[in-house]
Amino acid sequence: MKQACLIKLNGTVQGVGFRPFVYRLAHAHRLMGWVLNAGEGVEIWLEGEGDRLEAFRQALLDDLPAAAHIARLKVEEQNPEGYTGFRIIQSQTGGKLTAHISPDLALCPDCLAELRDPSNWRYQYPYINCTNCGPRYSIIEALPYDRPLTSMKGWQLCADCQQEYDNPLNRRFHAQPVACPMCGPSFKLLHKGQELSPALTETARLLREGAIVALKGIGGYHLACDARNPEVVQALRERKFRKEKAFALMVKDLDVADKLVYLTDDAKTLLRLVAAPIVLCPKKLELSGVAPENPGLGIMFPYTPLHYLLFDLGAPEALIMTSANHSSEPIAYKDEDALAQLKGIADAFLIGERPIVRRVDDSVLRLTRLGPIFLRRSRGFAPAALTTLPTRETLLAVGADLKNTLTLVIEGQAFVSQYLGDLEHYHSFEAFKEAIHDLCTMYDVDLADTVVLYDAHPDYYSSQYALELPAKMHLPVQHHQAHIAAVIAEKQAWKTKVLGIALDGTGYGEEGAIWGGEVFCGSLTEGFKRIAHLRYASLVGGDSAASYPVQAAAGFLAELELPDMTTEPFNFPERYLSAKDLLSKKLRVFPTTSAGRLFDTAAALLGFTRALSFEGQAAMWLEYLATGQAAEPYPFPFLDNTLDYRPLLAAIIKDRLAGRVAGQIAYAFHAGLAQGLAAMIETLAKDYSFEAIVLGGGVFQNGLLLELLSTALVKLDFPLWISQAVSANDESISLGQAAFGAFASASQQNA
Ligand code: ZN
Ligand code: ZN
Ligand code: FE
Repeated sequence: MKQACLIKLNGTVQGVGFRPFVYRLAHAHRLMGWVLNAGEGVEIWLEGEGDRLEAFRQALLDDLPAAAHIARLKVEEQNPEGYTGFRIIQSQTGGKLTAHISPDLALCPDCLAELRDPSNWRYQYPYINCTNCGPRYSIIEALPYDRPLTSMKGWQLCADCQQEYDNPLNRRFHAQPVACPMCGPSFKLLHKGQELSPALTETARLLREGAIVALKGIGGYHLACDARNPEVVQALRERKFRKEKAFALMVKDLDVADKLVYLTDDAKTLLRLVAAPIVLCPKKLELSGVAPENPGLGIMFPYTPLHYLLFDLGAPEALIMTSANHSSEPIAYKDEDALAQLKGIADAFLIGERPIVRRVDDSVLRLTRLGPIFLRRSRGFAPAALTTLPTRETLLAVGADLKNTLTLVIEGQAFVSQYLGDLEHYHSFEAFKEAIHDLCTMYDVDLADTVVLYDAHPDYYSSQYALELPAKMHLPVQHHQAHIAAVIAEKQAWKTKVLGIALDGTGYGEEGAIWGGEVFCGSLTEGFKRIAHLRYASLVGGDSAASYPVQAAAGFLAELELPDMTTEPFNFPERYLSAKDLLSKKLRVFPTTSAGRLFDTAAALLGFTRALSFEGQAAMWLEYLATGQAAEPYPFPFLDNTLDYRPLLAAIIKDRLAGRVAGQIAYAFHAGLAQGLAAMIETLAKDYSFEAIVLGGGVFQNGLLLELLSTALVKLDFPLWISQAVSANDESISLGQAAFGAFASASQQNA
């Protein structure tokens, strides 16, 4: 008996070889009908015997292409229309666009084999790709995902490529960026005003000879150089004004990685993800100038055909591969910008002709006791939908000013953008505005009909910009509540009562205070109440104190009995004294509960008395000092709903004066925090009811703290939740705002 059905699929189903997969499956099951890309995903019409339809549905779920992911599947019974074949038909436009845009994918094994096969017509072609690999998000101009709406629209397919593109049984069937040496884009190498060729061979030679080369990749330009050549590494630091922050490496293969870092099986799994992220691993070997004062080294594998070719052609087997930009700005992605901005930094430019539509930085992951966590979520992951929120409203959440991301919610699906940098920088703010425009255009969002969420900080650029946007409603969200809500959004635990602990550097609290050590109890449906916090300290200079650990120390140490801090072993510089002076005059002093500044104070006491050269540096340095040490925890008592840091700091000063090893002190500080937090949770559990502990904020990117805390909490038997699909730092704020918005907008409208 012939039956028919219409299957509607949503998720990452476009640009991942989904339609050819369906085509082959339908033929294998001898079913008639069609498949098409719609605005909301993929639609499949099937006609045939009932048991074959059933078998098809099962196989569809069992044999999905590697990069595809189904979020929703709906089957409608239909009356057969008498199709006599199965076809892939023209994409539909119109309707609400909620199809998931595929992130960019690393080169697949089949394409790599062809790239290295001298008899293949795409031998050594740096833009080889297929439906299983290659660029997606970085080349899409609009939806649905079809070649005329990508940055490949300018290249006419040759007859051979066309044949593959049209053949449903071919791996390149409807692979939108498909190209070959005959018809596709190519690379050229500019060196001192001259074009060198062959471009890739010459690039490999320059890298070998110690040059810094700007390379056009998937989501922007990288600066590359030999990681084992200390002179060029030093030159890169000087030219890029990047004094200390660690550089990430791209290594030729696993063997090279194995020489540089300690690799667990979990780390290997992360390195081999189709997203090809940077994975922070413990160092085995110190490479001069690459990651100073850091226990880890960020490494990644080649992920574009270009990268593989450079290694094959003799480039050094460990390359520094760093975003071509100034720190805290997103990656440069336009040729003319790269040429202008990198003049004086790069010795040569390897310029690819395929335009990049939007910038996407490399993603960074690290392994912790609680599993892998993101330090930055971008290429290979953005803009995949992270979660589903229970709302029909369209929401746009603009995040915070540091480590900005955006979250757009359509039909409940939360799409989180790539990392956009710190908005105080011009290029980052431009990227932020571009990304808002971009997401709204791509998903056809009418802002006038959208709820816009922003951080409660009135001076944030993101907040001010949000308030200028047309919107159905503008809603502010408190920063630390957003951190907690981001974790809950991932878990979709709307009603679960949680104890939320948000530890970070800076966030706007009540009455102008700078918060950053906050404890909440509640749920997304009922709201959160702040029930405890770090003891208030004075912060001289407000947010600007974040760059000077001794300036933070002036406030945090104010209530302690102190020796002369300007002499051995502390040697605090002049800035400490002037901060103390402002403090006594009560000039530019703000109350703060910032855990980030507490870390800075501890770092200052242990010798980090200079200015920071990047955000979070002092805390990373402390973690580095403490790694591999052991010591009893310092006291960090919880009294009157306040975590008192004074005994903790007093203990550091005492041990420092007694000449104790700095690493042990740093460890005892971490252990004290973990122990103090655990004791606080135990106390609060007596007065409040909650079912899970939620950790949010950048402080929880500290692997040692997570390890010590999870150990200290074992006996309490609460589930411990932390962001896994997005970074715990301010990259998660937009998602948390959106989660808030999903509930707040409904209650505001009902009120
Ligand atoms: Zn491929
Ligand atoms: Zn071709
Ligand atoms: Fe934060």
